[in-house]
Amino acid sequence: MPETSEDRAVSPPSTGEPDALDRLWTPHRMTYIAGQERPSDGCAFCQAPDLPRADSLMVARGTLVYAVLNLYPYNPGHLLICPYRHLADYTEMTVEETAELAGFTQTAMRVIRATSSAHGFNIGMNQGSVAGAGIAAHLHQHVVPRWGGDANFMPIVARTKILPQLLTETRDLLSSAWPS
Ligand SMILES: [Zn+2]
Repeated sequence: MPETSEDRAVSPPSTGEPDALDRLWTPHRMTYIAGQERPSDGCAFCQAPDLPRADSLMVARGTLVYAVLNLYPYNPGHLLICPYRHLADYTEMTVEETAELAGFTQTAMRVIRATSSAHGFNIGMNQGSVAGAGIAAHLHQHVVPRWGGDANFMPIVARTKILPQLLTETRDLLSSAWPS
């Protein structure tokens, strides 16, 4: 997005404790905060389970949740665990959905370790656009495998560029290793 006058960082007013942070004033984002975000027509996470195999990045299907590869991964094998139901907030999940999502997260870790010897993981969910959720209306738990040295910027960029070919291969690898 091109910089506008509203986007320019300005000094905070003199009231309050000064800190080391610059403020980025973006009044146009108030529509998001006020909840006027466009309603989710064509939610990608609602559509994912119905896609034909060739177009799908689905790794495993459960009763209430499923595991799908992230189309925009931070690392190879970056999985998303989603409930089939279209719900935004973690507190809206039933006990059964919560338990299956947790179990799928554990299985995802085991499968990724077995297939790619991940050294560690980042696991978690962003709740709401303000917290960084790309598709805020349909909650999804990230399972991001980590390897020593992977934070180096260039390898991530390099991998991202070749991902269109690798994603379906990664899907097949994880899918075949997933316990039925
Ligand atoms: Zn949805």
